[in-house]
Amino acid sequence: MRISLIIAAGGSGSRFQAGLKKKQSPSSAWPASKLFYSLAGTPLIFRTLDRFNKIPEIAEIVMAVPRGFETKMRGWTKQPGRKPLTCVAGGKTRAESVAKALRRTSKRQPWVMVHDGARPLVAEQAVRALIARAARASAPDALLLAKKVVPTIKKVQPGRSVVEATLDRKYLVEAETPQLFRRVALEDSYKTLRTAAKGWTPTDEASLLERAGYPAEVVTHDSWNPKITTLADFELADAFLKRAEPSGDRLGMGSDTHRLIAGRPFRLGGVLLPSGYGPLGHSDGDALIHALIDALLGALALGDIGDFFSDKNSKYKNKPSVEMLAEVLGRVRKQGWRPAQVDTTVHLERPRLGPFKKIIRKNLARFLALPEDYVGVKAKTFEGVGTGGAGLLVRCEALAVLRRI
Ligand code: MG
Repeated sequence: MRISLIIAAGGSGSRFQAGLKKKQSPSSAWPASKLFYSLAGTPLIFRTLDRFNKIPEIAEIVMAVPRGFETKMRGWTKQPGRKPLTCVAGGKTRAESVAKALRRTSKRQPWVMVHDGARPLVAEQAVRALIARAARASAPDALLLAKKVVPTIKKVQPGRSVVEATLDRKYLVEAETPQLFRRVALEDSYKTLRTAAKGWTPTDEASLLERAGYPAEVVTHDSWNPKITTLADFELADAFLKRAEPSGDRLGMGSDTHRLIAGRPFRLGGVLLPSGYGPLGHSDGDALIHALIDALLGALALGDIGDFFSDKNSKYKNKPSVEMLAEVLGRVRKQGWRPAQVDTTVHLERPRLGPFKKIIRKNLARFLALPEDYVGVKAKTFEGVGTGGAGLLVRCEALAVLRRI
């Protein structure tokens, strides 16, 4: 089963903007669309797209965005492992935006899914349930995610206050998205809409198909799938995500110890120290870089340096540690993270590290693409105690904070 996904994100978000204006001073600069507001550290629209990125049946994504916002989506598309995404400028109404996006989808996909850009919390499991229903032989032309209505709903005439009726909620469900349609039925329903009487605009695509006479069916679920319309909705979703993802940042620690022997070059943080001895090791034995590598790997629970650069593998013999660091940084970035801060401590009796701390810090900052005041390098001796105190050891500790790119 192959599906074209349409994300309807062409609206102006006027109710959201109105909420912001009430809350802030009018001189503040607001992003022109709520879609690019950071929801627990990630733009809202990126979160919406991420919910669909792992679903194999979805072959392409076409998104209707406010005019001029197409280029802002590059932040999502340039990350590896993303599905193909095409942006089109939205129309005056939701129906118009979806129709424009539909024309850009490939006819090779027999099913079309439509989802609100402003529903970033939809559960992957609910989307899969919808697809599973469509894959069965008896599938209708239209399927939609829906929820049983819990509140008591009263019917009143517009502008009036007299209650006409209390609707029996056992007959009521709330329509959500995604909604899934056979392509032929959706395309035909748009043609019917164009020839139908003016003055009716569908608020979802399923009602368009119902009106054109196609059977529709609900798939009910009970996960939270709010449409972020007001500022209050946004704040609630933000708090919900922050609770589910305790901290936006990731933290990793690392340590490394090397014996020091005569006649080896002594590299620390990529800097060659003047010394008659240096670390014994399979690689160049740069204990500071090794500790840092373990901190970076640890922050993403990827294992340790030995899992990546085994000392059993001759390929890594005398390998410059800074090359290993570059490889690990590449891996971290590929997963969508970057170092935001590091702190390190070096325990070394001789040579005294004091004169080299600044150059080591500068070097690490350059490797990590960080400002120097985000890189800590601290030096300690072993206070003359044990093997370290005899000048036979170097020991390093590192702490790394990673942040989403
Ligand atoms: Mg080591």
